[in-house]
Amino acid sequence: MQKYSSVREGLAAMQQFTLRQRKVGALLTFQDTGSKIVDVCFLFESLEAPVQQLIKKMPDMAIKGEAPEDMPHLLAARNTAMRSAISVLGEEELGLQTPHGHAEEALLRDFDACCGQVKDIRDVTIYLTHSPCTQHDQAPSDNMQGWPPSCTAKFSQLAASHAKWHFSICYSKAFGAMEGNTDAEKALKTLSGGLSNLSFVHLG
Ligand SMILES: [Zn+2]
Repeated sequence: MQKYSSVREGLAAMQQFTLRQRKVGALLTFQDTGSKIVDVCFLFESLEAPVQQLIKKMPDMAIKGEAPEDMPHLLAARNTAMRSAISVLGEEELGLQTPHGHAEEALLRDFDACCGQVKDIRDVTIYLTHSPCTQHDQAPSDNMQGWPPSCTAKFSQLAASHAKWHFSICYSKAFGAMEGNTDAEKALKTLSGGLSNLSFVHLG
């Protein structure tokens, strides 16, 4: 997590690392009860699963040039072997970053701590490089105990547990099942349970 002292700076940083590192980002910002935009904001990024991180560190582990029909089996076998190696050797010892997951999950893990640094919160605006994943996606996020799979459902749980605050989820690019959906904002609203204090906005 990175802290910025203005929303403009935070948004610029999110754009930069998205362009250069092709990462997914989430920026947590606030408005206070005086309707002022709070300067301080918090930037989070996605972190790949341990196996993917390890493959990047050990390029020899990449599987290439095999017959396409053998690939699923070879990949599954390699991933199983790597997962067990990681659990024996330890993520930290292997230099892997933790905890992994979607940028939204990183934000949710630190949400309370960030709110503790802001006074008189009325609205929460979260900027995302990509629309949050949903239950209709191939691999909805599921890296947090006590939270439902998919980031859309997690935002719903977040808004439900802070009924006095309004949450706006603003995303730049429609992702996964929402790609090409001309009514994605409405679809996300429906999928999140239609809470009155949670809205989705596509910033085109
Ligand atoms: Zn997600």
